[in-house]
Amino acid sequence: MTNYKNNNTFSFEITKRIPGKLGRAGIIHTPHGDIKTPAFMCVGTRGEVRFLSMEDLESVQAQAMLSNGYHLRNTSVEIAQAGGLAKWSGWNGPTLTDSGGFQVMSLGSGIGKVVSMDREDEVINADPKDRLAHVMEDGVRFFDPFTNQEDFIGPEESMQIQCRIGADIHMAYDELTSLADSYEYNVEALARTERWAQRSIDEHKKHRDDLGYRQSLYGVLQGGRWEDLRRSTAKKLAQMEFDGYGLGGAFLKESLGEILRWCCEELPENKPRHLLGLSHPDDILIGTEMGADTFDCVAPTREARHGRIYARHGYYNLQKCQDSPLPLDEGCDCPTCRSGWTRGELRKLWKSEDNSVRQQYYNLASIHNLRFIIRLTEDARAAILNGTFPEFKAEFLKNYYPNRK
Ligand SMILES: [Zn+2]
Repeated sequence: MTNYKNNNTFSFEITKRIPGKLGRAGIIHTPHGDIKTPAFMCVGTRGEVRFLSMEDLESVQAQAMLSNGYHLRNTSVEIAQAGGLAKWSGWNGPTLTDSGGFQVMSLGSGIGKVVSMDREDEVINADPKDRLAHVMEDGVRFFDPFTNQEDFIGPEESMQIQCRIGADIHMAYDELTSLADSYEYNVEALARTERWAQRSIDEHKKHRDDLGYRQSLYGVLQGGRWEDLRRSTAKKLAQMEFDGYGLGGAFLKESLGEILRWCCEELPENKPRHLLGLSHPDDILIGTEMGADTFDCVAPTREARHGRIYARHGYYNLQKCQDSPLPLDEGCDCPTCRSGWTRGELRKLWKSEDNSVRQQYYNLASIHNLRFIIRLTEDARAAILNGTFPEFKAEFLKNYYPNRK
């Protein structure tokens, strides 16, 4: 029995562009269904989103799920035997895996993906922390803190793992540099990432049809914060046989839009682009304007677990909402808000000593934050389609960040 859609093929169509910008609304067709873009992919690191059932994901109108090649590598044979990630997880819609490179290389480094300007000096001048990963031409040797064993993943291993997991979209193996790395180091790392890109393509071709449908491969752009590196690697990867592109790297928040513009100006227009691991509302809107089509990040659900609730007038912390009768966010269409939960009630669940009550909180709050971000991408898409994206973006940002100039 097969329930594959779209004749097992992958393609991308642009429905409408933002006039004068690189952004667009479109549709990515995958063997397991369509993704209307811009779109936020929920993150199910190990094939499930924490504290959310598959019905919950449907209820927030998630279109696609991103899982993690690194975390699923030891179960990948089992996943292949089940017919691939969509069937194994029960999600049964479009899926994407990342290469595992980010996890492998950020083990122990303590450096996140986005740093605001006020921490720039601290991060750039920091002593590189003792990394648990050693990068070589072949790949990365690393100490796995979960198994207490040394392990190795290179481009070939990453492609074999991803092709067993069998998501619709895979990421090429790349080396993520941090904001603490020098220009010289970025030149060296980028050349290696470009060699790994070709090795990823070569290995991927051998296995991409193993599960009975075509699995696609995105090339990943690195290059830090330097325009010459970003443009040159985008040009090189544009010539390679990739189905789409991952926009990678650690970003200073203030230069995110500019860096994305450098990349997207050089990339072929007819292939989709995924901005890896960023999802603050301003990142999504700037990313959309600059030509990113899909997004993913653990932030909405992670922040929910820490009591941070997204709302149209900016996020707030439930800590300050004792006995508040206010809705989480007025006008929100998520199942939590439609059931009438108030800030005060959710705070009470969050503070409970009872583990199962706290789990109910994690579920209700994650649903709200995920729906908020997914709705933002839906609204952005609608605004692109009716030609009002600049106005929509300005209005949203004015409400969400009222103190910004
Ligand atoms: Zn809500």
